[in-house]
Amino acid sequence: MTESPFSLPDRAEIEPVLRLALERASDYLAGLDDRPALAPDVEERLRPFAGSLPEHGHGAMEAVRLLAEHGLPAATTTAGPKFFHFVVGGVTPAAFGADLLTALLDQPAYAWASSPLGVHLEVLALRWLRELFELPAEWTGVMTTGATMANFVGLAAARQWWGESHGRDPSRDGLAGMPPVPVFSSGHIHASALKCLAMLGIGRDAVRIAGSGPAGRLDAAALDRGLRELGGAPAIVIANAGEVNAGEYDPIREMLDIARRHGAWLHVDGAFGLFARISPRTRHLTDGVDEADSVTVDGHKWLNVPYDCGFSFVRDVGLLKRAFAYSADYLPGPDDPRPNFGSVGPESSRRARALAVWATLQAYGRAGHRHIVEHHLDLAQYLGARVDREPHFERLAPVQINIVCFRYNPGGLDESTLDALNERLGRALLEDGRVFAGTTKFEGRVAFRPAISNWRTREADVDLLVDVLDELGAALARELSRSP
Ligand SMILES: *Cc1c(COP(=O)(O)O)cnc(C)c1O
Repeated sequence: MTESPFSLPDRAEIEPVLRLALERASDYLAGLDDRPALAPDVEERLRPFAGSLPEHGHGAMEAVRLLAEHGLPAATTTAGPKFFHFVVGGVTPAAFGADLLTALLDQPAYAWASSPLGVHLEVLALRWLRELFELPAEWTGVMTTGATMANFVGLAAARQWWGESHGRDPSRDGLAGMPPVPVFSSGHIHASALKCLAMLGIGRDAVRIAGSGPAGRLDAAALDRGLRELGGAPAIVIANAGEVNAGEYDPIREMLDIARRHGAWLHVDGAFGLFARISPRTRHLTDGVDEADSVTVDGHKWLNVPYDCGFSFVRDVGLLKRAFAYSADYLPGPDDPRPNFGSVGPESSRRARALAVWATLQAYGRAGHRHIVEHHLDLAQYLGARVDREPHFERLAPVQINIVCFRYNPGGLDESTLDALNERLGRALLEDGRVFAGTTKFEGRVAFRPAISNWRTREADVDLLVDVLDELGAALARELSRSP
């Protein structure tokens, strides 16, 4: 055998690389519950990853060893139980195992021709999800990278419908020369929906907010009036099932009735909030969603499957097929009776993310996933009650779902000082790294908004959040009282 002067992929590397990766993965998982949300000296830890492109590679063992050695300790512990920032789900063991196999198989789940397994499991898992969320069986689903792209799918179908109502095909002709697309929502609209409107050529400023008060809660009369003023012209209404600051829900049934009265499209963004539907304790929050035209859900949030994974459900598959029409001589034709996800969604080559979704539903079923959701509902109530008991904290909103909105408030400070203090406390919490939660503005006030969506999280993790905030908050408040 002649020695190459540089490294090349070699079958002999596979066994040792796999053993190394699995060994490190196993150690990592064994310590996951106790890991901080982020090492405080992360920039130091990233230093080994530098330099210019190696001319002669170092081989697979060296590359993977470097990543295990320096990469694992530098990663945010998003899979762990102390990560309350954004809305970040964990990974169930079944989903984790299936995702390893997904990487192993490297299937493009574009169409039957590229992966019967990926496509079959996607069809099946989407059917199970419709059962889980009690959505009509005849709706079409497609898996996406997340809720942003699921919103994109739903709103692309809406745009297609809107264009066709004007006698045009926007996917073929574009929107040039057409009137602006009227879009309505409450102040709860998610930033990703605005990004989707930008990507769809509708424009983020197309949205008219029918909201009132500092939280922008739906003003139903304003929505009704706005649609009536269009005089029957088609419009898109976006309802928000679970917003990120306090876990509030738009009144979906009411928005549905208004949309129907004026012949408008109703899109529901239920990225994490649709999971309220799987517990009888919170199901009422999603009332009416099964009569909408398109619905968004995230997989990597409350379903606890790995990144990246989201679901879009749309009533009229024809709109999706026209919006995402995709063909070439070397691809399966549009009349191929077998499933073809590449022509009902934005991606063509796509990860077989259905394997992890199928696996977690197969492993734990409806009851298991309902238990995960209810465990988080309980933990959110527990956190809310603890915040209420603590003298230095103030809850700012009712605890309705898995988000608790509160601020640090030691008393005797005016609003602008409290805002500055909570902003600094937010930064201090992330620098400290033991536990992660982010800040936001709720009704004009700087607030914490931890979201609980990891199956591993326990009361002790939630307690740690309050304890660390109390400790860091006291230090900042002392500093504040010393400064003139
Ligand atoms: C998280 C979220 C999104 C965006 O989801 P990604 O998975 O990050 O793309 C959209 N809408 C709502 C309500 C969300 O919470």
